Amino acid sequence: MGILDGKVVFITGAGHGQGRAHAVTAAREGADVIATDLDRPIDGVRYRLATADDLAETGRLVEQAGGRVLTRIADVRSSEDLDAAVAEGIETFGKIDVLIANAGIFTQAPFWKMDEQTWDDVLDVNLKGVWRTMKAVTPHLIDRKTGSIILTTSVNSVMGNPSAAHYTAAKHGVLGLMRSAAQTLGPLGIRVNSVAPGLIDTPMTNFQELYDQMAGHPGADRSDYDKAALHYGILAGQGALPPETIANAAAWLASDGSYAVTGQNIVIDAGHTILPGFNPAPVALH
Ligand code: NAP
Repeated sequence: MGILDGKVVFITGAGHGQGRAHAVTAAREGADVIATDLDRPIDGVRYRLATADDLAETGRLVEQAGGRVLTRIADVRSSEDLDAAVAEGIETFGKIDVLIANAGIFTQAPFWKMDEQTWDDVLDVNLKGVWRTMKAVTPHLIDRKTGSIILTTSVNSVMGNPSAAHYTAAKHGVLGLMRSAAQTLGPLGIRVNSVAPGLIDTPMTNFQELYDQMAGHPGADRSDYDKAALHYGILAGQGALPPETIANAAAWLASDGSYAVTGQNIVIDAGHTILPGFNPAPVALH
């Protein structure tokens, strides 16, 4: 018996990283999975983006975990793509019970030097893409008068990030979207929550520029990154967390066990957001 027995879960950004962990965890807990992802690069993204092969591998892992799976290429910047994936998912499995709107991208630049395209790409995927995904799935949940929607925010939904104001603005926006949707859909029997990951070990956080930034010097390697990651939490030995950490929380939010939980942003960050404040580089008045 799994906590998601008999449920059908629709996931965006399922090609690798947390999206793949959501898919495999849901299957292990008894669900069937509609796994969607983008299959082409987005300009300005510095880490490896998933391919159609990666999404196929997610499909294989879901089946290995005991679930049925439908994999579809869908860009969250396209309502047409999302509507088609939702329709095909319902045709295949008869229903959708759970949405995990996980797709996202991360880029960095000081906000006053950022070009409009960089701002627009992050907002289009990370905020408007979540809205488009909810818009595609929600009418079906309303028809069925049940459902659990889980959005992926970030610790940057509750705190600033000086090198990624656009990402932070988008994630604060997703938090507002989650709370508003929870109010709208609660009377209709549908719950809406979000998971707020801290530093998670996925392709998004595994690239040279971030290794150097976190370690504080150029030429850093994975072991420097692992050491630096320990500064991002308070719990002993917890640095960059495995994506399953977030998938386990989402599985609970998707399950009937969380029947009374709605409108909540569950922060999973090894204590990152409760670290005592410290200014590492104070600037004195002259
Ligand atoms: P990831 O491994 O890069 O996964 C993100 C997924 O989103 C990828 O499969 C990516 O597909 C997909 N995606 C990007 N643009 C898309 C689009 N336009 N349409 C459909 N899919 C798209 O990173 P992750 O860490 O798993 O990120 C998952 C979520 O967690 C994101 O919302 C991210 O902002 C959030 N988050 C991550 C961290 C962290 O430390 N990793 C921390 C806080 C929050 P392609 O690769 O094919 O583009």
